[in-house]
Amino acid sequence: MSTIRKISCHVVSAPIERPFTSSRGWLYKTRGSCIVEIETADGIVGWGECYGPAQVARAYIESQYAPRILGRDPFDVEVIWEDLYNRIKDYGGSGMAISALSGIDIALWDIIGKTCGKPVHKLLGGAHRTEVTAYATGLYFIDMDRLIEEAVEEAQGYVEEGFTAVKMKIGLGSPRLDIARVEAVRKAIGDGARLMVDANHCFSVPTAIRLGRELEQLGVEWFEEPISPEDVDGYVEVTRALDIAVAGGENEFTRWGFRDLVARKAMDIVQPDVCAAGGLSECRKIAALAITHGVECVPHAWGSVIGLAATLHFLAALPDQPPSLRPIPPMLEFEQCENPFRDELSTEPIVQRQGVVQVPTAAGLGIEVRREVLDRYRVA
Ligand code: CA
Repeated sequence: MSTIRKISCHVVSAPIERPFTSSRGWLYKTRGSCIVEIETADGIVGWGECYGPAQVARAYIESQYAPRILGRDPFDVEVIWEDLYNRIKDYGGSGMAISALSGIDIALWDIIGKTCGKPVHKLLGGAHRTEVTAYATGLYFIDMDRLIEEAVEEAQGYVEEGFTAVKMKIGLGSPRLDIARVEAVRKAIGDGARLMVDANHCFSVPTAIRLGRELEQLGVEWFEEPISPEDVDGYVEVTRALDIAVAGGENEFTRWGFRDLVARKAMDIVQPDVCAAGGLSECRKIAALAITHGVECVPHAWGSVIGLAATLHFLAALPDQPPSLRPIPPMLEFEQCENPFRDELSTEPIVQRQGVVQVPTAAGLGIEVRREVLDRYRVA
């Protein structure tokens, strides 16, 4: 048995050329992440990633988690998870504490895979699929004077690159403008392409229902985060009122956080993020819980190639929901905004061809991290 010898957090940040925003209103001027590196006594290195404010994740890891896992067996990944969770939950077993824990969990699965010479999805029970359909996440708000034109151009670009599914942002303070923009995008990409919308929880219940009925007419596949995540009763109302699938849950954490959402069927699709909701260990429990309650699980992903690879293994190990002759498999969220940590951090970037991404097959997460990229963008 080789034990955990060292845990390092790489906090990185890169400026981006064209700042963008969503209905949240804050402007993304940089892309960053807390990348977790865990090394064993015999020199095996595992990589993980934490979603959200990177410095906060680092503080949790360095001050609370790292001292508890030094010297332990990485194969005890779930024992370690329970120990760290129970260490922190008296101060809030949700939010950034769990994002930080997610980065450690993913890195440990990477180590286990590399030790066994198996890709992570094999350790999770095997692959239901070797490739996944990816949808392009983009169509944020960049130029406030060209909101419709820029959305149309960007969506056309994705279709030209091969994507068959696109998710766009809505929530421009005017449901009429939102609908005009969705309509323009639908027209531009044609009826054959799949289209989803994401409101980043900016609507009230009645506005969400009224808007949702119009989105149904435009063949939108799901309505993501129509309302605020705290309002579970509101989600139940919106979900029952609309025919269109309602999605949410990217800001929920652990099986306990998802329990009421799925038991009450507050949404049709839950979207745990493997870098936030508790890592691969916890997300497979969340998926089991969701499927048990007849709620679909389609993970959220928004980060570096490390999080992307972890999400691909998680997706590979998700059963069809439901299984059938020609199932509709869960899609990969393949965010397309400028991000060097997605495109440059691994020796071979993860790419889509004809809208499809291959599940990595090399040992562990199946990616090789380029340290010079971490060094280039490192924050002190
Ligand atoms: Ca989202």
